[in-house]
Amino acid sequence: MAVRIDRDKCMYCGACTSVCPFLALELRETYVHVHEDKCKECGICVKACPVGAISLPRGDTQ
Ligand code: SF4
Ligand code: SF4
Repeated sequence: MAVRIDRDKCMYCGACTSVCPFLALELRETYVHVHEDKCKECGICVKACPVGAISLPRGDTQ
């Protein structure tokens, strides 16, 4: 399991990619790619996103 990113909300600011301790998020040309095998669902990126585009699969932040 891994976080999901709402591409309609995401504005490609890069905040999430720089805070992930596990390097699971990668800013690509037109979207943020989630390396699902690396995500630990820690929730750090969810709180870092200024537009609320990231959600955990269970819908909470922890
Ligand atoms: S939930 Fe944690 S491990 Fe997963 S992408 Fe966000 S910061 Fe990285
Ligand atoms: S922090 Fe949010 S808006 Fe910024 S790149 Fe990540 S998902 Fe997109």
